[in-house]
Amino acid sequence: PELVCLVESQGNVIRVNRTVEAWGLAQVLDVRGRDFHDLLHPGCTSPDCYLRTFLQTAYGEALRGRPSVLEARDPLLQRYLSICIRPVVDLHKDLASTSVIVVQDITERKQAEVALQRYAERLAVINEISQAILSARSSREIAQVALDHLKRLIPYQLGFIALAEQNGAVLSILSIMVPHPTSVLRPGYTFSPRVLRGIRSNQSPNVIRLTDVPGLSEAEREMMRVGARAYVTISLMAEGTFVGVFTLGTKDVKDLQQEYLDIAYEVASLLAVAIRHTQLYEELRHTNKELEAALRARDEMIQNVSHELCTPLTIIRGYTELMQEGGAGELTAAQKGMLATISTHSDRLLHMLNRLLTLQRLDSDVVEKVPFVPAAILRRIVRAWRATAERAGIELRLKISDELPYILANPDLFDQTMVNLLDNAIKFSPGGGTVTVRSWANNGSVFIAVSDQGIGIPAHALNHIFDRFYQVDGSMSRRFGGMGIGLALCKKIVQIHGGRIWASSPGEGKGSTFTIALPVAAPPEDDVE
Ligand code: ADP
Repeated sequence: PELVCLVESQGNVIRVNRTVEAWGLAQVLDVRGRDFHDLLHPGCTSPDCYLRTFLQTAYGEALRGRPSVLEARDPLLQRYLSICIRPVVDLHKDLASTSVIVVQDITERKQAEVALQRYAERLAVINEISQAILSARSSREIAQVALDHLKRLIPYQLGFIALAEQNGAVLSILSIMVPHPTSVLRPGYTFSPRVLRGIRSNQSPNVIRLTDVPGLSEAEREMMRVGARAYVTISLMAEGTFVGVFTLGTKDVKDLQQEYLDIAYEVASLLAVAIRHTQLYEELRHTNKELEAALRARDEMIQNVSHELCTPLTIIRGYTELMQEGGAGELTAAQKGMLATISTHSDRLLHMLNRLLTLQRLDSDVVEKVPFVPAAILRRIVRAWRATAERAGIELRLKISDELPYILANPDLFDQTMVNLLDNAIKFSPGGGTVTVRSWANNGSVFIAVSDQGIGIPAHALNHIFDRFYQVDGSMSRRFGGMGIGLALCKKIVQIHGGRIWASSPGEGKGSTFTIALPVAAPPEDDVE
């Protein structure tokens, strides 16, 4: 309850409530006539006393009919007080030359307010740290930023962040704030395995008084030398990985009170995750670089090998042809048969090498394009493939909508794309059936689709079959031969023409459809009326 007191205009007490006894100031019956200031501050003679100054002004204000209020920390009572003085007014609203003073003890409220404000400040700084950490690009920058900002929250004398090497056996300082520039504790300082073991077993913050430690380690001796008397080390753990440690040393063990440890702990968890992420990012970048180099090496090797193979193959084909034409004398039927086999297989080999070389070359070569209506080319290709299809027990159908528009393309590459799709459609239809080639136009694109009733493609593979060297199922595809190069080539060609290619299949054993969409082009000038 508050202290309520009626005083005369000069501050002499008329009556007071029992709170005066509860606060241990005086007995209710003894207070009459005493000065109110003296009641609250017995024996205080200080001319600077805040209470005396306030009361004097407040009495003056009261004489003019105005109230006064003050909230202050009372150094004598060691409490926060709210003091309110109001003039008393009689029934006729005249001043009665007395005032009521109400004094409230607001210490708890004030403490809560101060705590709340400190908490808000702490949150703001921690938020700043996390923002700064997020925009830092390296572990070193993250550590530096955290130590810088933390100075505003914790009165530390020395602070450092040390990182564990990948095997966890070595711990070396990444960033440090230390008052002596000559200290051995500086970036790169490595901790002895003994210290490391001690740190790793200490998962929760544990304040160590340097004066109490019997055998100081070198690092601890150095902390002492630069003025620290106590320190705390927190392990930085991210997703179960020991990243390193975060240490704060203070001049006094009192500076490592719980509130500061809470902050240190919070910052440590931010640090651990951020540092781990930059480490993972670095590792990923490194792996990516290696991968890129490996892919480049692979492409170069393919290019070189294909080139090297082309020359002897051309010679083999040349001599085969020469012998077939009688250049080595009359041939027996058996010899003719053998040469035919050599010829078929070397043609096939050449075709494969050409596809590989084309795929590599398409990256760099400029492709020449002409406008044409794909109908004629499609008819020709289907006619040429009919015999091959029939031998495989497949009926080849062509359905082209009337009046197909022009496309702008390289006829040879267009041809190669269709040949690849038809070749696959026939190859992957071991049970025969129908292969249908359709073409139509819609919405500014010309579509060409090749559908078969063959082995189909499982859903998980649909996105990968256009990748270089990808084959749906190793053993299955080996049964059908091939190198996983045809569709990659198709995709590259279609992309060069500004189009798209995709595959769809209702599932394994249910056939597949490959569709190409190419942008409609303007007809050539001599075709325009
Ligand atoms: P490959 O030389 O192996 O035929 P492709 O790049 O042409 O190489 O095809 C890649 C893979 O896609 C094939 O190995 C096969 O698994 C699958 N595939 C391609 N076309 C078809 C199709 N019409 N039906 C089923 N699977 C196909």
